[in-house]
Amino acid sequence: MHNLLDHFSRATDTLADLGLRHGRVPLSAIQWYSRTCMFWTLLLIGLVGIPALHASGAVSIETVNQLGRYLCFAIAALSLDLVWGYGGMLCLCQFLFFSLGGYAMGMFCAHHGGPEGVIDAVNWGKIPACLFVVYPGGVGESQDQWTVPFFWKPFWNIWTTLILGIVIPGVVAAVIGFFVFRSRVRGVFFAVLTQAIVLAFWLVVCMNNMKLGGTNGLTRFDRIILDSRENISITIAPQKLAEANLEAAAVREAVEKKAMEISQAYIEQVEKKRQLLTRNFASPPAVNVDAVPIEVRGSNSAMMIRLARSIHVWKVLAVFEELTVAEQQRLSDIAEVKIAGYDLNNKNVKLALYLLTVIVLVAVFLLCQLLMKSRIGRVLIAVRDNESRLRFSGYRPYVFKMLVFGISGAIAGLGGMLYAPQMKIFTPTNLEPKESIAVVIFVAVGGRATLSGPIFGALVVSYLYSLLTSHSPDAWPIVLGLLFILVTLYLPGGLMGIWQSWVSLAISQKTVRSSTGVINSTEAQQDRIDVRLAVVGILAVTFGFSAAWGLGEYARPWDDGLMAQRNGSSVVVGLILMLTAVSALLQVLAGLGLITGRVWGSMILKRTLPISIGLSVTAVGWLFFVGTLRSGIADWGTTGFTRVSELVSTVPHLPVLTLWSAAALFYFHRFLSRQAVRTTVAADAAEDQTDEALPDASAVQDRASQLARIVAKQKIGPSKSTLDNSLLEVRGVKVVFDGFKALDVAEFSAGYYDLNVIIGPNGAGKTTLCDVISGKTPVTEGQVHLGGHQITGLTEADIARLGVGRKFQTPTVFDSLTVYGNMELAIPGRHRLVNNVGIRPSAAERLKIEEILARVKLLEHAEKDVRHLSHGQRQWLEISMLILSDPRLLLVDEPAAGLTDEETILTAELLLELKAEHSVIVIEHDMEFVRLLNSSVTVLNEGSVMAQGEMQAIEKDPAVIEAYLGR
Ligand code: ADP
Ligand code: MG
Repeated sequence: MHNLLDHFSRATDTLADLGLRHGRVPLSAIQWYSRTCMFWTLLLIGLVGIPALHASGAVSIETVNQLGRYLCFAIAALSLDLVWGYGGMLCLCQFLFFSLGGYAMGMFCAHHGGPEGVIDAVNWGKIPACLFVVYPGGVGESQDQWTVPFFWKPFWNIWTTLILGIVIPGVVAAVIGFFVFRSRVRGVFFAVLTQAIVLAFWLVVCMNNMKLGGTNGLTRFDRIILDSRENISITIAPQKLAEANLEAAAVREAVEKKAMEISQAYIEQVEKKRQLLTRNFASPPAVNVDAVPIEVRGSNSAMMIRLARSIHVWKVLAVFEELTVAEQQRLSDIAEVKIAGYDLNNKNVKLALYLLTVIVLVAVFLLCQLLMKSRIGRVLIAVRDNESRLRFSGYRPYVFKMLVFGISGAIAGLGGMLYAPQMKIFTPTNLEPKESIAVVIFVAVGGRATLSGPIFGALVVSYLYSLLTSHSPDAWPIVLGLLFILVTLYLPGGLMGIWQSWVSLAISQKTVRSSTGVINSTEAQQDRIDVRLAVVGILAVTFGFSAAWGLGEYARPWDDGLMAQRNGSSVVVGLILMLTAVSALLQVLAGLGLITGRVWGSMILKRTLPISIGLSVTAVGWLFFVGTLRSGIADWGTTGFTRVSELVSTVPHLPVLTLWSAAALFYFHRFLSRQAVRTTVAADAAEDQTDEALPDASAVQDRASQLARIVAKQKIGPSKSTLDNSLLEVRGVKVVFDGFKALDVAEFSAGYYDLNVIIGPNGAGKTTLCDVISGKTPVTEGQVHLGGHQITGLTEADIARLGVGRKFQTPTVFDSLTVYGNMELAIPGRHRLVNNVGIRPSAAERLKIEEILARVKLLEHAEKDVRHLSHGQRQWLEISMLILSDPRLLLVDEPAAGLTDEETILTAELLLELKAEHSVIVIEHDMEFVRLLNSSVTVLNEGSVMAQGEMQAIEKDPAVIEAYLGR
């Protein structure tokens, strides 16, 4: 039994740890349902439900195709969510990237579409049908002088097309990003700029001489071929062959003979072309010649004729169709002759494209989720909250923004590539500004920064669009505008915001419970909890087993089970029930684990409980809504309810499983929050102890012992002479704003491990001095040195990386991140992009964060979003972040502003402690506070240093009294 308890406590410790470590509360059931289960439900509906409904005839292929196109919009919306939702950059050119992908795929499809067009002058290949219509040649050229435009050529092959269709939009986005973000263009300027860019592209692409089909766009999409050559397939029908009294071998002979003839003609034509070119040009361009222009492959009954790119496949097709294989017998009479490839008009191809879109959407979703869960995602949110603050922490925001913008462009391009073959035309309308604005609306309606929201929004709004345009197309822009205004005003979180508000409700309740709740849980209580866990294990086995059995029996796909009925709806419900049965089986496993005292038992149970609930709710919901859809909204009460009650009464295991799982989940979560509180209390206790061990330690340490400590740490090498130099030197610095001299400091320096206080009346230039040191404001004249290096003219991020940390006059922290998330951004050495990919904070770093947070009484709020903190707490959080980032020099601007007396004292203590390992410059207005610090003081007045020395002396200086203290 003891062993068992040990295991339990370890398991639960890890669970509680998980919450704290990642700086968030463990997922509640609602959160879980909204984030994960809903997504997988949509996936199940998308991949199984819709095809099943299509197979049973309830949904036509046109609808499936339409849905596929909407899903392409969803991909574009998802890509915008990265940039706008997470990064706060309102990009109004998302459809530019979509169109770049679309045009790439469009060029591929156009290459392989339609019989119109001739082989070009240099024998490269057939001029695409849609180009032929809008005249692709130069002025005064005749048709036989036309050539395929060079930029069309890479798009002949599907594989290069696929790569280019992702790379081009990605690179274009990254390049736009590089110039725009580096120049710090933000907010509405960024929006206007991107709008202008897409408008410019639209105008350019619409021109006929761009050789992209002009306003007609790319049309005549026919087939997708995977081979790098066109093939004509000849499939002989054996019955007809027998009727015609023919041998397959004879047919092949005829085909091969014809192929030889075409080959001959090809060579003659090449020769003619050469002559033509020599006549027309002084130095004729080279003519492409294929060594094997035509090749017959495959068996006698299924032949494949592989053609050189520069052979007109449609003309050859006609020749073979009309080929006489015997008297009165043409080849097309006894065989199916067609161009090989996936016909875009074919139902199965349409369905396959739809499925492909779903799969790509899912992959993209998972990728985005991964990206946003990583540190990159957090940095991006920090960029949205306060970009300039991030620079002073040593980050270069534009690198992150550029990367995300590039990724977003590539994803949008992918969407466009899937859209083109499903739409079977790609026109410049996609580049019209309103299309890009529509994507913004998708995201806004669905909910920003939620990932699943934009998918939802794209589907809902697009469906609304198709509904409305068929009735009253003129009303659409008005409806769209109204929708946008309504969402912005009343539903700022979009549709997903409704979910989120429930979730935050759940979280705030949890926080209240943990801060006031069962804090002194004793060992005795702990025991009881563990015994209860064992009971939970037994119940899990019992309920799980009976549910798995009952559900499996009901839904099984053989005998008289539900899935044996094989219509769309029963297959879907059956599948969901089967999955529920699997989750119930997992509960059995988890229960066994719990009973035998295994850590994984509680881990598995915690995860399978919400899955069981989610799946059974989904099954019931599906049954209800499909029933309603079938018989119309009017009958929803009768049909929906009848179907559901039928299900519940035949399989009572379903409600029992749901109720049991919900109860167990509730129990587990209460248990979890209790654990989290215990950890916090323990940390508080630990902190109290350290306080006793070091009475006033740092405040009274003499310089010698400080030096010894520092040398031991080897932060700057053991040479004492280095320490005698100053860390910071400001020499002859002048800052002039529009003729107004804000700063004129002849000489100011700060030593290593020193605390300097700067005081002065309002407008004296104190903040400006900080700005100069940290690189925010350029100097008009003079130099700043840090540890012997010139730092004037460096960027904020570079100076921060050299070891200058800064706290602003008004607390600047990242509001949308948790306290813990803020701290994580301040971990030293994590500023570069590469250090932000898939790296979790180490155990030591976590410990350090928790230690610092405990010191400023923020540990219990570690999981709170920073926007819920008080002013004082935000001040401390900013100071904590500074401490964690371990700079050489700390610039602290008015830390006591707006604090209560008690808070002021703690802040002063903190600053004195910091002095032990850092150089600190404190700017302060509050004289009481300055007296508390009891350090050397510099008085600034009207931009220049007025006096310097100990506080006692300064207070007696008549000039200072006159300028400042006397007031
Ligand atoms: P404080 O000592 O109160 O922190 P500041 O350094 O903020 O004073 O300001 C010093 C002077 O410089 C003030 O007169 C202020 O108006 C002016 N100033 C500060 N920043 C700017 C700016 N960006 N443009 C023009 N004037 C500025
Ligand atoms: Mg100031």
